[in-house]
Amino acid sequence: MYLYSKFYSDGEFKSATGAIHLDVVNPSTGQKIADVATCSSIDVEQAVQSARRGFEVWSKSSVAERRRVLYELRDQITAAADRAVLLLAQEMGCPVWLGKNMQLPMALKGLELAAEGLDQIKWQEKIGNGIVEKVPCGVVVAITPWNFPFHQIVAKVAAAIAAGCAVVLKPSEVAPGAAQVFMEAVNAAGIPAGVVNLVWGGPAVGEQLVTHPLVDRISFTGSTQVGRRIMASAAEGIKPVTLELGGKSAAILLDDADIEKSVASVTRLSLANSGQACVSQSRLIAPRHRVTDIIDHWRACASQWPLGNPTDETTRLGPVATSMQHARVLGMIEFAQNRGAALVAGGIDRPVSLNQGFYVQPTLLANVSQDMEIAQEEIFGPVLAIMPYDTEDQAIDIANSTRYGLSGAVWSRDAEHALAVARRMKTGQVVINGATQNLATPFGGCGWSGFGRENGRFGIEEMLNYRSLHSA
Ligand code: NAD
Repeated sequence: MYLYSKFYSDGEFKSATGAIHLDVVNPSTGQKIADVATCSSIDVEQAVQSARRGFEVWSKSSVAERRRVLYELRDQITAAADRAVLLLAQEMGCPVWLGKNMQLPMALKGLELAAEGLDQIKWQEKIGNGIVEKVPCGVVVAITPWNFPFHQIVAKVAAAIAAGCAVVLKPSEVAPGAAQVFMEAVNAAGIPAGVVNLVWGGPAVGEQLVTHPLVDRISFTGSTQVGRRIMASAAEGIKPVTLELGGKSAAILLDDADIEKSVASVTRLSLANSGQACVSQSRLIAPRHRVTDIIDHWRACASQWPLGNPTDETTRLGPVATSMQHARVLGMIEFAQNRGAALVAGGIDRPVSLNQGFYVQPTLLANVSQDMEIAQEEIFGPVLAIMPYDTEDQAIDIANSTRYGLSGAVWSRDAEHALAVARRMKTGQVVINGATQNLATPFGGCGWSGFGRENGRFGIEEMLNYRSLHSA
C-alpha cells in the first residue's frame, strides 16, 4: 500500500498533518491501493507563503533560466516515464498503451511548447511615449482533475513557470501518482525553492487556496459544477480565473463524408481513456439515410476495443476511473433507454473475469434526440449517441444545442465545405476530417466549457498582466 504523505513547499517534501486520509482505489479491481494524507490548513498556509517567497525570486528570473528549467523538467519526467504510466493504469485505469502513446507524450510536448512559447511573447512594446510590459501575475493556484493528470498539471505549472509566476498545485485526490512523479521531477530539476508547491486534499483544501488573500490567480480544470463554485469563491477576492470545464463534443458527418474513416475516428475518440476526456466525441450527428451503414461500421470498429486490464500492454479499453463514475455512466445509459433511445450495443454486460472492476462496454445509442439528457450532459464514459439529421442547418443546430462548447469535428470530402461548417460551430476548437490536434494552438472552451486558454504561448499569456509605463 503506497502512502502519499508529503506535501511540497520551500523546495522540500514535508509530512502532511491533516486529519483526513483519502483512499485511492484501483478501478480494475475495486480494491484500495494507496492512501493520501491530506494537508491541514497550516500546511496549506505554509505552501502559499512559500509560493509568495518563490514569486519574489522567480519573477526576476531570465527567460533563459525559465527555459532551462522547463527542459530539465521534461528530461526528469522522461526518466520516470515507466513508473508514471503504471501509476496511471493502477490509479485511474488508463491503459499503459494510452499512457505511453498519449498521456505522457502530451505532457512532455506541453513542457516543450511552454519553453518555445517564451520566444513568441512580446514581453515589451513601445507605443508612442508608452512602454507596455507583460509581467507575471503573481501566485497562481492550479487545481487539476484525474482524467489526463500529467497533461493537466503540465498545462498549468509549465505556463506559470514560463510566465515567472509561482504556483501551488492541488491535484486530484483520485489519481495522485502523476502529481507525485511530477513533484519529484520538480525537486530534481533544480527549480528555486517556493516556485512550485504541492498540497494534497479535496474540496476543503481547494477552497482554502481559492479564497487565500495571497493568491493572485486561479487556473482550474474539472467539472462545470465545481468550476462554477470556484468562480463564485474567486469573485470575493476579485481574482481572475481560467476555467477548463466539461464538454459534449459533436462530430458532424456531412452527406459526402467518408463513412469508414469518419466512424473509425469518432469511435476511437469516444472510447479512448474510456471516454473520460473533456474533448471526447460523445455525439455523432449523421445524415438519417446513412445511420444503418454507420451502425455497421461502428460495430466493426468497437470490436477492436475489447475490455481488458489496463496494466496489460495489449489493452485498449480499461475501466472507468471510479465506482461513482461507473454508476453514473450506467445510470445515464438506462435513463436514455427509458426516454426512448435504442441501445445498439454495450451498456451493463461485462466479461465475468472483469466483474470486480468498474468496466463499461463500448456503448452505442441510436434514435437520440436533442431534448434527452444523454444529448445534453457530459457522460465521461465510452458511450456514443447517434443523432440523425435531414438538413445541414439542422445538423449545425443539433451540434450547437448544448450549453457546452469545447470541441467538435466535421467530416466531408470537400475540405472547404467542412471548414465553412466548422466556423458555424459554437465551440473552442474543431477537428476537420480527423486532423491531428495541434498542441501549439490555444485550447479552451466557451459557454459551460469555461473560458481562458491553455497550451504554449497562449497558456503563458493567461498568467501575465499588462503594465503600461508613460514617460514624459
Ligand atoms: P472535479 O470538478 O470533481 O474536480 C476537479 C478538481 O477540483 C479536483 O482536484 C478536486 O479535488 C477539486 N475540487 C472539488 N471541489 C472543489 C472546490 N469546492 N473548491 C476547489 N477545488 C475543488 O472534476 P473531476 O471529476 O476530477 O474531473 C472530471 C471533469 O473535468 C469532467 O467534467 C471533465 O470534463 C473536466 N475536464 C475538463 C477539461 C478541459 O480542459 N476543459 C479537461 C479535463 C477534464
